[in-house]
Amino acid sequence: MMKAILPPAMLGILGGGQLGRMFVTAAKRMGYRVTVLDPDAQAPAAEFADVHLCAAYNDADALHTLAASCAAITTEFENVNADAMRSLAKTTRVSPSGDCVAIAQDRIAEKAWVNKAGLPTAPYLVIESVEDIQVELAAYLPGILKTARLGYDGKGQVRVNSADEARAAYANLGGQACVLEKMLDLKLEVSAIVTRVSPEQVSVFPVAENIHKNGILDESIVPARIAPALAAQAQQMACQLAEALNYVGVLAVEFFVLGDDSLVINEIAPRPHNSGHYTIDACVTDQYQQQVRAMCGLLPGRTELLSPVVMVNLLGDVWQPNGGEPNWDVLMEAPNAHLHLYGKKQARTGRKMGHYTVLASEVDAALEQARALKETL
Ligand code: ADP
Ligand code: MG
Repeated sequence: MMKAILPPAMLGILGGGQLGRMFVTAAKRMGYRVTVLDPDAQAPAAEFADVHLCAAYNDADALHTLAASCAAITTEFENVNADAMRSLAKTTRVSPSGDCVAIAQDRIAEKAWVNKAGLPTAPYLVIESVEDIQVELAAYLPGILKTARLGYDGKGQVRVNSADEARAAYANLGGQACVLEKMLDLKLEVSAIVTRVSPEQVSVFPVAENIHKNGILDESIVPARIAPALAAQAQQMACQLAEALNYVGVLAVEFFVLGDDSLVINEIAPRPHNSGHYTIDACVTDQYQQQVRAMCGLLPGRTELLSPVVMVNLLGDVWQPNGGEPNWDVLMEAPNAHLHLYGKKQARTGRKMGHYTVLASEVDAALEQARALKETL
């Protein structure tokens, strides 16, 4: 075990979006200093960071400065250049590893690793050229054609019902590498977020139940409304995957719950996750503190849920067409709700602008109140 990095050491993060902003907040509260690398002058994390390196993610000078000035480096941005992470790791502590980030960036590698870890995925076919679709596709139809790289929030995905549609969709996506995944009948979607510092030091958050709207996370409900044994199984599977990847850092694992109550792994993210925002307000330790702890070689913090909680995402859609603020007054008056805004200037449709949580003694009451509050915005 390497020596722990203690405050006021400088920590570095690749990416300065909302996940970076919440990381910076956690790290600063603990007494660390933070350098953010993000090409956007208005990156949400920049306003709280000690240093903002406003440069491209592959900018050699900026990467050199980051490596030279930081005791440890992490990422909030999964499409960060994995080679940049590998080269930073030659001189500085980097977590998660460039190798793990590369796996999470590529649905083909990701699914292969999940299966290799002995864990189930939806039936899928790797499509790297047109020949790969000239086969019997019945096992994958109706299905979803997903680009192997750079998809998020339902982007880069096309639903297909026939082999002809699959071929047309593949051409429409520009012939890039894809997976054709069988459309499953989902009872629910859940996620489990693991923190792994070493083989002995692994901890996992309570399982969140996730409701998506238009391919984007809308609500996370915790505890998930599933049998405790099933939640425990999701947590165990997430830990098993982190172990197989020899992962260091925070790893989010998204699951499908099927009609027969079996679990399938959908995808992973090598970082804190939107479905773990609830941990800030409702857990002993939050996912951003865990990211700090893991990169610094500290033990993971305890993850117990202090209260049932519902998190609601606030997309740009809630802002007025002229960009005017939503009507915050009712939400701000609710003594058991917490508003988190990411400081983004431009509210666009589908853009994640913030979230709020509602804590209550019963999860159903939290959900009911969270939905009622949304109506007041
Ligand atoms: P993204 O990277 O955009 O989050 P996902 O692969 O998680 O992509 O897909 C987004 C959403 O689409 C999922 O949360 C789920 O609701 C739905 N979805 C994806 N794959 C399947 C599938 N094989 N069967 C049924 N629904 C799916
Ligand atoms: Mg997803």
